[in-house]
Amino acid sequence: MPFPLVLSAPSGGGKTTIARALLAAREDLGYSISATTRHRRPEEKEGKDYFFLSRDEFRRRVNAGEFVEWAEYGGQLYGTLKSELEAVLASGRHAVLDIEIQGARAVRKLYAEAVLVFIVPPSADELMKRLGGSAGTRGATLRRRLRRAIEELGEALEYDYVVVNAERTEAVAEVAAILDAESRRPRRNPELENDLAELGREIRALADSLGQSAEA
Ligand code: 5GP
Repeated sequence: MPFPLVLSAPSGGGKTTIARALLAAREDLGYSISATTRHRRPEEKEGKDYFFLSRDEFRRRVNAGEFVEWAEYGGQLYGTLKSELEAVLASGRHAVLDIEIQGARAVRKLYAEAVLVFIVPPSADELMKRLGGSAGTRGATLRRRLRRAIEELGEALEYDYVVVNAERTEAVAEVAAILDAESRRPRRNPELENDLAELGREIRALADSLGQSAEA
């Protein structure tokens, strides 16, 4: 049964890259496109990376009960649309959510079957490099992001899994392994009981036929 796969990370943790790589590599995953009030970045596309909404429109949709969860982050509003998440799950794919911690908590409450993965940078230096990577990041902004990263790291222990993103390909493989292991839990496979019963019947038939030939 498909489930929500929540990826969180401190800013600079690299979760968006990991989410993209996973989605490109696996057909059993779909992306739950969030809504946000922040401005679109040049490389982003409306309806692919986010649904970019005005604050008024966002509020209207909150009031209309269209969000599974929403949160304020860095002064902007972000939220998971029920229609998006449910459409991915209804298509039979696990839904990848790239969301921050408050959102992850809310999803966990509403979807007990959700799997929460926290992605951490391998070192302070590497985090600094990734955060400072975008040219022109001012000292104050960088300091604010580093402080927020410290706070966010404190929440990692609430998650089901923590993956260290030292090397992207390896981190993607680790999240894929988590997905595969989780999909094999009996409670996620309602058809398993019948399949096992069928296998049992086949084994019994085999044993019976052996018994008969031994007796014969
Ligand atoms: P960014 O502006 O860099 O795309 O995202 C900022 C933060 O908002 C990231 O931590 C991202 O995971 C989070 N975010 C994106 N979409 C959602 C959402 O739908 N709900 C919540 N709670 N956080 C989100």
